[in-house]
Amino acid sequence: MALRQIITIGDPRLREKARKVVNFGPELGQLIDDMIETMRAAPGVGLAAPQIAVSERVIVVEVPKDEEDAEAGTLLFEMVNPEIVKMNREVVEEDEGCLSIPGYVGAVPRATMIVVRGQDRFGRPQRVRAYDYLARVFQHEIDHLDGILFIDRVTSPDKIREVKRGEELEGETAEAAAALSA
Ligand code: ZN
Repeated sequence: MALRQIITIGDPRLREKARKVVNFGPELGQLIDDMIETMRAAPGVGLAAPQIAVSERVIVVEVPKDEEDAEAGTLLFEMVNPEIVKMNREVVEEDEGCLSIPGYVGAVPRATMIVVRGQDRFGRPQRVRAYDYLARVFQHEIDHLDGILFIDRVTSPDKIREVKRGEELEGETAEAAAALSA
């Protein structure tokens, strides 16, 4: 496994539409392992291949099983060619950050429930029904595959705020910055 470099906003590769994966060989497994390692090191709760300058439709997501209980461990998802096949009409606006836009968060409206269909690293079909926070992370990552960033999804520019990483932050902003960097 190897850490990959996360590219940041301004790099045109973040704006490309990623290619569908057709080869499910060992190279794909290596890519996914590297993405998991890079996401954990960042640290973040999700990563899409375009964020490490690989134009392929691959995402990884890892969220706490129980946000109140750190001991409960995490849920890890790897999804190749993910597609949202169902989406709740109910939308909630919450803060999001992005590993490719360090130092900023924005309040982004997202569907509260989605069903995602895709494949695992061996090409086997996968289907995930995700609610709330997990649904938000999936939507954020799948957007990356189409060159869409959270700053494109905010309803107005004043919903984007600067946060200083590593410094003390007040209440909600600190939680948001720490909680959702994807
Ligand atoms: Zn992101």
